[in-house]
Amino acid sequence: SIMIVMKFGGSSVANAENIIKVVNIIQEKKEAKVVVFSAMGGITDALENVWQSYQNKDVIDAQCCLIKQVFMNLISELFSDDSVKLICKALVNYSIENVIKLERANTLKRANVVSLGEKLTSFIIHQYCQELGMNTELIDAEKLIRKNSNNEVNQKFITENCSLLLSNRKPSSIYITQGFVCSAVGGQTSVLGRGSSDYSATLIGAAIKAKAIEIWSDTNGVLNNDPRKVTNTTTVDAISYDEATEMAFFGAKILHPKCLIPAKERGIKVIVKNTFNPEFSGTVISSKTTHTTVVKAAATKENVSILNITSNRTLTENEFISKTFKTLSKYQQQTDLMSITNVTIAIAIVANSQIETCINQLSKFSNVSVLKEQSIITLVGDLSSNSIGNSDTILKPFKKIPIKMIGYGSSNTSISIVIDKANQNKALQNVNEYVFNLKN
Ligand code: ASP
Ligand code: MG
Repeated sequence: SIMIVMKFGGSSVANAENIIKVVNIIQEKKEAKVVVFSAMGGITDALENVWQSYQNKDVIDAQCCLIKQVFMNLISELFSDDSVKLICKALVNYSIENVIKLERANTLKRANVVSLGEKLTSFIIHQYCQELGMNTELIDAEKLIRKNSNNEVNQKFITENCSLLLSNRKPSSIYITQGFVCSAVGGQTSVLGRGSSDYSATLIGAAIKAKAIEIWSDTNGVLNNDPRKVTNTTTVDAISYDEATEMAFFGAKILHPKCLIPAKERGIKVIVKNTFNPEFSGTVISSKTTHTTVVKAAATKENVSILNITSNRTLTENEFISKTFKTLSKYQQQTDLMSITNVTIAIAIVANSQIETCINQLSKFSNVSVLKEQSIITLVGDLSSNSIGNSDTILKPFKKIPIKMIGYGSSNTSISIVIDKANQNKALQNVNEYVFNLKN
């Protein structure tokens, strides 16, 4: 196919100056394209707080007013034409006033609040492109992405409705739409999870069999270590879908954990690029990977707890295992790592607020001990369990750091090591030094 998908994240559209950069990047690509926008940076969090206040029955007016002001300032800066300014300001005003109206009527829904960031941002950028004489068309993401009654994405709907774009396109078509936003079974506005604009982009890209899906953000692609925790990082130039998924799952912030599934299924390459350094090649994610280095990158997951659950032996081993996981799945979202011996299950999780209830339930048939403030360091790369000689490299960074748990063997692409959070940055620096040969 000759269409491409370009997705721009929150920091790429955080202000007028950045939006101008983004529009330049779009104009330079000659192919027909679908451009997916996140909300202006920080806006979805602010809207989520409005929703929280509503649920707590607090006043929301001041918060709404601040959000409105952010958009009004953007509009004033971005446009030169007064009539377009008025159109944009009217939409922002109407949308935010509507939230307040629904709050008063006690009929506010989360999706109607949190989707506004993407809706207003994409509308404003579309108007700006129009002002520049570009051939853009704004399409509601509700019309492209729908969920089914299980709250999962409806592939058939997406394929059918996205292919309409393909059949109507001209060589110069630029379709603008929203990430994150979708429709529920009945067509009402809904949203995919937080950070899911990447997923929107790959769902659309897979549906139209795009030539490539570009994810534009504010780093030089996928970095081999966390720039907030170590001074030196390099860009991984090529990485496989599975490796990149593993990184996202284990805490790398650059991509939504689910977003590579649609791309992998259709074999469409995903390119991670930097809006603020567009000449740089970035990271190509495909079925190929570079084999020059064994370990390509380290990801970090913080706020982890280890639960050590030991059977009190009133149940058989298998009953104990099955009851433990039933209880966990009832109260906790996700288990990151687990290790099982016949009467003890150790799991590493990012616990949610129901952790105390969960432990109380587990304690009915087991003894539970909890180790808080842990971090998971995941090394991602070509770590096939058939290869020899990797263990030296992989374990060297942890030589002087107590290891609390290890997860290895279930995938060929990662090894995860749990350590005290206090040792996390030291471990990452050691990874830089011993695994990547980078100076700190
Ligand atoms: N704006 C949404 C969020 O902040 C979706 C995204 O940016 O990916 O979660
Ligand atoms: Mg994101």
